[in-house]
Amino acid sequence: MSGIVHLVGAGPGDPGLLTVRAVELIADADVILYDRLIPPEALAHARPDAEVVYVGKQGEGPQFPQDDTHRLLLEHAGAGRRVVRLKGGDPFVFGRGGEEALVLHEAGIPFEVVPGVTAGVAAPAYAGIPVTHRDVASGVAFVTGHEDPEKPGSVIDWPALAAFPGTLVFYMAVRTLPRIADRLVAGGRSPDEPVAVVERGTLPGQRTLVGTLADVAERAERERIRAPAITLVGEVARLRGELAWLEARPLHGRTVAVTRARAQASALAARLRALGAAVVEAPAIRIVPLEAELPPVGGYDLVCVTSPNGAELLLDRLRDARELAGVTVAAIGPGTARALRARGVEPDILPERAVAEGLVEALADVPVGRVLIARAAEGRDVLPEALRERGAQVDVVALYETVAEPLDDAAREAAAGADYLLFTSASSVRFFARAAGEDSLRGPRLASIGPATSAALREHGAEPDLEADPHTPDGLVAALLADAAP
Ligand code: SAH
Repeated sequence: MSGIVHLVGAGPGDPGLLTVRAVELIADADVILYDRLIPPEALAHARPDAEVVYVGKQGEGPQFPQDDTHRLLLEHAGAGRRVVRLKGGDPFVFGRGGEEALVLHEAGIPFEVVPGVTAGVAAPAYAGIPVTHRDVASGVAFVTGHEDPEKPGSVIDWPALAAFPGTLVFYMAVRTLPRIADRLVAGGRSPDEPVAVVERGTLPGQRTLVGTLADVAERAERERIRAPAITLVGEVARLRGELAWLEARPLHGRTVAVTRARAQASALAARLRALGAAVVEAPAIRIVPLEAELPPVGGYDLVCVTSPNGAELLLDRLRDARELAGVTVAAIGPGTARALRARGVEPDILPERAVAEGLVEALADVPVGRVLIARAAEGRDVLPEALRERGAQVDVVALYETVAEPLDDAAREAAAGADYLLFTSASSVRFFARAAGEDSLRGPRLASIGPATSAALREHGAEPDLEADPHTPDGLVAALLADAAP
């Protein structure tokens, strides 16, 4: 069986700009040979048994010789493997993808090309600059800035480039910027022509500097612009004044650390990212299902479910949802209600306040005889105690427990250095404080989902800076937006 090589573009850095085809092929590959400027998230799609090999080159740093890359491509594909050659941006735009395709062609090895979102278009777009614009720029040229224009034998025709009627987009042009600007002015472009330099385009911490051909080099030096950066020369750069959408997002420039369990963090993290935040995932806890015996639920008048995890694990245990047919179902929190609904169970009672005290109030007029509470091992006793006081016979079943998730040094540091630390449960506070140390609670502003979580923070000597109301992830995001508003 013959192997195949897919030359795949991974986009400019934002993992959301990976194509669907790229993700499909990464997930299917036996071998992945990847470059430096690919989003690390791209590799998360790889099969656990895939061979993932770094073959990047770094400006002055370690170089993986191109010949060795060619050899690896031929070797793996020749042995019948499915190889993904993963490159930043687009594989055929300054990515040496063409050379690699030629090597494969000559060896008679099948290959396919998957275009990617190229940095020269994407970085300006994230800076609010369209590379073409009616009446302003009717063309765009992609140019390598890698070559020093002062070097004899430069292959770039600078006078022709200066005369090009449209936008010029330079890749790899940080070091050479002063000479490039000089050459373009010498070739007849106006020293007042606007220039934008976009550093780390589409990545957290993207920076954009706008100047003119006359002063951009000096400003880039002063601002310490570093690679990777795209330099764009042209009138379209002025449009950024009106179109800078990235910086206009409400959480732009804020780092937010999310401490909840990894399985639950992603939806919250995605919402925060969409609002412009750089999100640090620092899961301090993990949910572990327990083997507890579940009594027949049909024997109860009332079943209380206090968390989305509880809802899912409870329904996992039921052979048939109709066992709940005659039972009143009460839930705490909209997420719990959603989890129940997803399995075809509509909660009868859903208090407005998403805390145990809220449910106690909501149950005030509901007759309680035999009650089952399905929840975490470490849940609070507010609900069972209140119901027992009313004469109910209450069984508490712990369906899962929350255990510590070790935090690596990088996650710990990133969380401690964040602008905001988000806590969505009392247990996440306790485990985070244990894993990261109470000092980690001193720097960031502390955002708590509700009173129980706030109380846990106070136990650790930290006062929450904001508390969500309603006590839900939506409420927490709203509180964060209000706090971050200028
Ligand atoms: N094949 C890639 C380009 C590789 S050359 C593509 O299509 O995008 C490497 C150069 O790309 C860098 O020196 C820089 O100029 C540019 N580049 C890559 N990623 C970038 C990013 N996130 N922001 C700005 N420039 C980037």
